[in-house]
Amino acid sequence: MKVLRSLYVNWRRRRIYGAALAGPARGVILRYHSVGEPEAVGRYLDPGLSVSPECFREHLEVLRRHCRVVGPEEMTRRLSGRDDGPLAVWITFDDGYRDNHDHATALLAEAGLTATFYITTGPLTSGRGLWISELWRLVPRLPAGASTGLPDDFPRQVPEDSEGRRRLRRRVTRWFAGMTADEREGWLDHLARLAGVPRGEGLEQSFLTPELLRRMQAAGMTIGAHSRSHPHLDHLDPTHHAEEVLGSKEDLEQILGAEVPDFAYPNPSGGGRFGEQARASVAAAGFRTAVTSTPGPLGPETDRLRLPRIGVYAGAQQALVYHLLARAGRR
Ligand SMILES: [Zn+2]
Repeated sequence: MKVLRSLYVNWRRRRIYGAALAGPARGVILRYHSVGEPEAVGRYLDPGLSVSPECFREHLEVLRRHCRVVGPEEMTRRLSGRDDGPLAVWITFDDGYRDNHDHATALLAEAGLTATFYITTGPLTSGRGLWISELWRLVPRLPAGASTGLPDDFPRQVPEDSEGRRRLRRRVTRWFAGMTADEREGWLDHLARLAGVPRGEGLEQSFLTPELLRRMQAAGMTIGAHSRSHPHLDHLDPTHHAEEVLGSKEDLEQILGAEVPDFAYPNPSGGGRFGEQARASVAAAGFRTAVTSTPGPLGPETDRLRLPRIGVYAGAQQALVYHLLARAGRR
């Protein structure tokens, strides 16, 4: 059954990525989160969302050899006209982990390439990391069998096994995705008390700072906005959209002293479609482009405020993406 399942997953991915690469604009947007060694990343993020520095270096070599690495301006220009040159690839990173500076920017600069980094602005100055990191750290530390103190539809007690905890973390993530920053902080305080550890312990170095962002900008990287507290805009009450969306744009413009016209929809709970309300909030904030987490072809029909992307993750998935990229680039 396991073999059949992995064959099916592989077949489905090939189809979806193949369709994304076959768009008339001959371009694709890649979505990374983190570059780092799995043991180091594992302190603040699921290492499955990250690729190793060695892997990323190989990715950049493939892109240099077979594709043309572009930024938001060139990619949006290409949407309207057909181009027969090499496949255009726009590299993007979500969230704002510190490894984006320490590893990703360093390797990009070494290769003479650039990328766009979408930053959640709340943690830039809090020194406590992103709430996703805090949940990743806290859930394994909750005492087995203790009363969770969560609302009625959650498990009453902390599960013993890691699979039960993984499910609990995913459910809490979906719940947190629809909250304001203050509500979420209150529940994180609760979980930290239950785990018996201080808030943000060990996460002080996990996230970027304003100073590191300015260094990335000076190295030629593009900085985009990714909300203030990383909610899912389809689930968050629209009265809080401006504070999150426009708020993050203003935070970054203040730090960088430059306009920030590019946005990435946070997608903490997966399966995001980003409906009309979310899109309207992004348009109202004055963004020129916005990227999603769903793969799809790029062409004249593509909505510039809902640009599709292909995620790149650890393991066999990244190898498949790069195999297809090398093939499509050579064509
Ligand atoms: Zn994100």
